[in-house]
Amino acid sequence: MKTIIEKINRDNIEQSVIDQAGEILKGGGLVAFPTETVYGLGADALNESAAGKTYAAKGRPSDNPLIVHIARNEDLSHIVAEIPKGTWELADAFWPGPLTMIFQKSDQVPYGTTGGLETVAVRMPSDEIARKLILAGGGYVSGPSANTSGRPSPTTAAHVAQDLDGKIEMIIDGGSASIGVESTILDMTVTPPMILRPGAVTQEMMEEVIGRVDVDHTILNANSKQAPKAPGMKYRHYAPKAQLSIVDGELADVYETIRTLTQQAMSEGKRVGIIATKESISEYPEGIIKNIGSREKHGDVAKHLYQILREFDETQVDVIFSEPFTHAGIGSAVNNRLEKAAGHHHILASRKKRPLV
Ligand code: AMP
Ligand code: MG
Repeated sequence: MKTIIEKINRDNIEQSVIDQAGEILKGGGLVAFPTETVYGLGADALNESAAGKTYAAKGRPSDNPLIVHIARNEDLSHIVAEIPKGTWELADAFWPGPLTMIFQKSDQVPYGTTGGLETVAVRMPSDEIARKLILAGGGYVSGPSANTSGRPSPTTAAHVAQDLDGKIEMIIDGGSASIGVESTILDMTVTPPMILRPGAVTQEMMEEVIGRVDVDHTILNANSKQAPKAPGMKYRHYAPKAQLSIVDGELADVYETIRTLTQQAMSEGKRVGIIATKESISEYPEGIIKNIGSREKHGDVAKHLYQILREFDETQVDVIFSEPFTHAGIGSAVNNRLEKAAGHHHILASRKKRPLV
């Protein structure tokens, strides 16, 4: 299949491109589109066979449900059986934006879209291109991340093309995603509501609006025997090809330890990637060093994470060492994705200056 790639100017969104993309969606085809979180792989969420194509293009296990994207509050009641207490308060506060809520599904939503579940995940993105596309495509657009399953999520159209060129009808290029990590997922079918995936909308932000919100603790815990409640969280998503290790400790010790580990790995003939910050970039004399942004700017760290993991795949490094990042704010989402990319592999920084094993 020849994939059409269309660049859209955000200051003057071309309706003809949106209409063309909308027709593809209504015809059961696939269109990758920008959102403020990551790029999504759009399909008509109410068309079972379009869901099937989505799983095939991504190589995604079919028990991993898709998020349905809407553009208007009034469209929610068509796809959900019931609207729990707190929903509209959260929607008023965070929609459009990076919050996905889970509800009991209505019979309008095929099981193909929900991975066989009785529940449906719904989000209203704030990205203007995404919103126009959703409306042009019939109002209900499923949109998993537009990557091959298992690869880091795409934050640019070029990332989408790396994975899906030739497999989908169209890619809309709207520049870099402004947030860079996927939406917060909140299960509204339980009381109190429970966070199944951390994102830019944090527990504290939601608690200010509706009171108590719980967190599914399997999502940050390496040793949990329980399956996470969001089926997708059990897969080793977001994974670079190299072994990634997070080096924990006081920053000065972390720098010293990463230097030592890098030297050791390089002496064994390995290519080494380092996830460093604006503040620490000059701490490392060797290795392939990437600046993720200032560690004080949590949003920058989130925005650059997947891009850097993809770059390391391209440069074919063998091992990656990452500095640790704060859990504050969007930091909980960064840590969740980094943990999954690392397969929960941590190294404790040594306080003594001796070679590490
Ligand atoms: P992605 O489309 O790549 O952002 O992944 C979507 C995430 O939403 C996956 O982790 C899914 O398991 C999760 N998800 C979607 N629908 C549901 C649902 N009905 N219940 C629980 N998790 C869901
Ligand atoms: Mg994904």
